[in-house]
Amino acid sequence: MKLAFIGLGQMGQGMAANLVKAGHDVTVYNRSADKAAALVAQGAKLARTPAEAGEGVEAVFTMLADDKALEAVVFGADGLISTLAPGAMHVSASTISVALAERLAQAHAEAGQDFVSAPVFGRPDAAAAAKLFIVAAGAPEVIARLQPVFDVLGQRTFVLSETPSRANLVKLSGNFLIGSVIESLSEAIALVAKGGIDPAAYLELLTSTLFTAPVYKTYGGLIVGEKFTPAGFAAPLGQKDVRLVLAAAETLNVPLPLASLLRDRFLALLAQPEGAELDWSAISTLARRDSGQ
Ligand code: NAP
Repeated sequence: MKLAFIGLGQMGQGMAANLVKAGHDVTVYNRSADKAAALVAQGAKLARTPAEAGEGVEAVFTMLADDKALEAVVFGADGLISTLAPGAMHVSASTISVALAERLAQAHAEAGQDFVSAPVFGRPDAAAAAKLFIVAAGAPEVIARLQPVFDVLGQRTFVLSETPSRANLVKLSGNFLIGSVIESLSEAIALVAKGGIDPAAYLELLTSTLFTAPVYKTYGGLIVGEKFTPAGFAAPLGQKDVRLVLAAAETLNVPLPLASLLRDRFLALLAQPEGAELDWSAISTLARRDSGQ
């Protein structure tokens, strides 16, 4: 398929490389052009603007930091909405707000283009290994056309709704759960460590018995090993997701007391000089600090 991929950060690099490897005709664009070099060496074409990336393709994937980045790429000067052909698809894989997904669905529909939300679960290693879980929502016939491409990017696609923004709501709810696990696991580890238990042995017990889910293994390993750099998922992005889940919850009048707590944890982490460079699991250092360790 003739595709474009916009946003070659930690996640986008691996995803775009997998599309090239699978034999798709891929044009790439990244704000900082140097990040496109490796993909061009693998056979991708380079676009100088998002508008150029959108020209003549069947689908354009976007994998950008946040709402502001995606708005700039779609609606800004040289934005892709101006060149994407009627009937072409925009697949938004970034973790963005429900409100922006609604705006994109409407704007693309007005331009005669198709819009699908397809945020993902999985960190950069999963993106590179094509092991992402894709949460898709949009018109069923559009998702059916995209399924072979999703199969190149991930291990499974979950189709949840015909309304694209619902996939974003689900993705945000998932990150709220991950953040809650990081927080509760950090508090429990602070407790047993102060009581004289080896954190690594404690984690081994947890993840071999009642807490065998990947999220406990992955984040438990990062917390116990204090491996917060290089950040696989940077703290400012985690803070962004907490902010977005709280915004979605406010719109629906749903209280999320744990998300409010996480909001303060991220503010405290990002108030520290190097906080923005750390993985979001570094909020665990705050539970440890509070326990006087
Ligand atoms: P990242 O490494 O920070 O990459 C961010 C990308 O957005 C880069 O291509 C960056 O371009 C671009 N960008 C930022 N601001 C921009 C702007 N104003 N205009 C144009 N481009 C801009 O982030 P990531 O870890 O790949 O995450 C990307 C998305 O996936 C985020 O929404 C994140 O929440 C989500 N996600 C991440 C993970 C994870 O574990 N990392 C997992 C699932 C979902 P430059 O290179 O020019 O800065």
